[in-house]
Amino acid sequence: RRPGATLLEVSGVSVTFDGFRAINNLSISIGEPELRAIIGPNGAGKTTFMDIVTGKTRPDEGRVLWGEKSLNLLKMSESEIARAGIGRKFQKPTVFEAQTVRANLAMALKAPRSPFDVLFFRPGPDVAARISELAAEIGLAGELDRLSGELSHGQKQWLEIGMLLAQDPRLLLVDEPAAGMTPAEREHTTDLLKRAAEKHAVVVVEHDMEFVRRLECRVTVLHEGSVLAEGSLDHVTRDQRVIDVYLGR
Ligand code: ADP
Repeated sequence: RRPGATLLEVSGVSVTFDGFRAINNLSISIGEPELRAIIGPNGAGKTTFMDIVTGKTRPDEGRVLWGEKSLNLLKMSESEIARAGIGRKFQKPTVFEAQTVRANLAMALKAPRSPFDVLFFRPGPDVAARISELAAEIGLAGELDRLSGELSHGQKQWLEIGMLLAQDPRLLLVDEPAAGMTPAEREHTTDLLKRAAEKHAVVVVEHDMEFVRRLECRVTVLHEGSVLAEGSLDHVTRDQRVIDVYLGR
């Protein structure tokens, strides 16, 4: 599947922390829909890239443009950026463990008015239908009445992805989704992300090459805050510079 029109355009961005250039003239553009993997050794700038896109870190130079109107994300607050349709999944799941899967999804859909409302919450037909749809999408249709705290690590991660999808983001940034998962959970995660990327732009930051291979998507290799190579995984792993960086030469 080829990426659609450009959704996110990062160009010539640099970030300096105490005189150290963590991001150096970085340019990346993401289409909609698209599935993209961002890989690179520790310290390559992957986390800082996500921090820039979500407004948590402000670059010293460069442009970050969003959507068909080319909105300047650098002028928007973190919450404005989130409302514009950028969702981020951190490595550690942050589901409400004392609540059921259904209540977690309902909260993500903002159906109950407050966390206290959840106690007495009965979803209306529209919300119930959307909850079922999301649960099926993330493979938790049979777990709706379970407490989230009882789910496996993998299931919690899927629930959190479901909670982000509930907010219907245009771009989903996912940090190392396969970390700590069993092989079966990894496979499910691959399917889930591929499916999500049929409708949304999904950017996955990942260390695990085997996982990236299964995503069958365009790969961007970061090194020292810049793009070292971009293309299919086969293409970038044949690149001598990428091999050298990974072997630490
Ligand atoms: P990655 O996620 O690819 O491992 P990071 O984006 O976390 O890389 O970090 C890129 C570089 O910037 C690293 O050398 C890191 O030590 C440095 N760095 C990141 N955040 C800060 C910060 N707040 N202050 C100083 N240095 C930082």
